[in-house]
Amino acid sequence: MKNNIKPLDKEYIASTYGRFDLEIVKGEGSLVYDETGKEYIDVATGIAVNTFGFCDREWVEAVTCQLTKFQHTSNLYFSEPCVRLAELLAKRTGCKRTFFSNSGAEANECAIKTARKWALENKGEGYYNIITLKNSFHGRTLTTLSATGQDVFHTTFNPFTEGFFYAEANKLDTVEALIKENKCCAVMMELVQGEGGVLALDKEFVDGVAALCRENNMLLIIDEVQTGNGRTGSLYAFLHYGISPDIVTTAKGLGGGLPIGATMFFEKTEGTLTAGTHGSTFGGNPVSCAGAVNIIERIDGNVLAGVRERSEYIINELTGADGIKSVSGLGLMLGIETEKDASEVIKYCMERGVLPIKAKNKVRLLPALNIPMEQLKKAISVIKEAAKGE
Ligand SMILES: *Cc1c(COP(=O)(O)O)cnc(C)c1O
Repeated sequence: MKNNIKPLDKEYIASTYGRFDLEIVKGEGSLVYDETGKEYIDVATGIAVNTFGFCDREWVEAVTCQLTKFQHTSNLYFSEPCVRLAELLAKRTGCKRTFFSNSGAEANECAIKTARKWALENKGEGYYNIITLKNSFHGRTLTTLSATGQDVFHTTFNPFTEGFFYAEANKLDTVEALIKENKCCAVMMELVQGEGGVLALDKEFVDGVAALCRENNMLLIIDEVQTGNGRTGSLYAFLHYGISPDIVTTAKGLGGGLPIGATMFFEKTEGTLTAGTHGSTFGGNPVSCAGAVNIIERIDGNVLAGVRERSEYIINELTGADGIKSVSGLGLMLGIETEKDASEVIKYCMERGVLPIKAKNKVRLLPALNIPMEQLKKAISVIKEAAKGE
């Protein structure tokens, strides 16, 4: 029997996380085991990170192969995995160049720096303001907290970075008004607000924002940290919406379980960051990039059809079921509004071997893109059972 690490965690780890009373010791695909050997079906993938589940064989091979060659080098030298990944992203998304970092927050910081430099060079002094949406989430650094349009995140750590204004999602006139009143360089938004409660933006609104950006010579920045890498049933959600952004950021599922952030630049912004204007010691890490190449190469039409098929199955099963008020989201990024408290539903699921998470007041599902149908069916039946009225 192994040592109980829970008291040690409580003693030595910074107290920023409220953890469930559950230790993960190993996983395989969409199955995961706790310290007692109990098996669970994972439907959250470490918050949309383990794209093909735990320890996917092909991914492990790609990562270990690179690991035995070299684990890191500085950005002072050329190395292959980051180039292969950037080329792959360009071919699959139409972006021109990519800057690699280590997390979603960093990918967004890079996008914000780029927008400000672009504005200085293309619009003149003072156009540093960026419009984001209320209820958004863009990260935990001081600047990405500023970008996050939720008041709860704007306390305690003052002063925050200035230059952000918040419009209402799906209300185009609020975006228009902010553009008129302020010198703005960009709109930055998630196409499905993840942390905000898994809410997909209306197509009409997204098209409207894209048009406003064009008309006002502003950049359109899409935060695909959570929606990216096949999660919504397209490789990136902007492809589903059919818009042409100027910058797309991603992270979470890109590395399939290794830390990586990417800021993709399209035509207008590909030349903005020049030598010495940005950097990251670990950015473009060869092991993370080798993992990411494997992930992106494998997200083909087949996998994406599988995502949409699983999504439809979940939506059909849960919509109108006893105790379920609504199902929102896109692809395998879904939020379930239950009559019972979401925490209560999650607790019941955990007891019966299923691991969903929460987003605001909803039960959130972010399963592996290739979760086996039998496991998904089992998980959904447990969730239905959990949501059911007494
Ligand atoms: C998770 C998330 C982030 C932050 O990513 P980190 O890797 O935790 O820094 C930013 N934007 C969105 C939309 C996210 O879901």
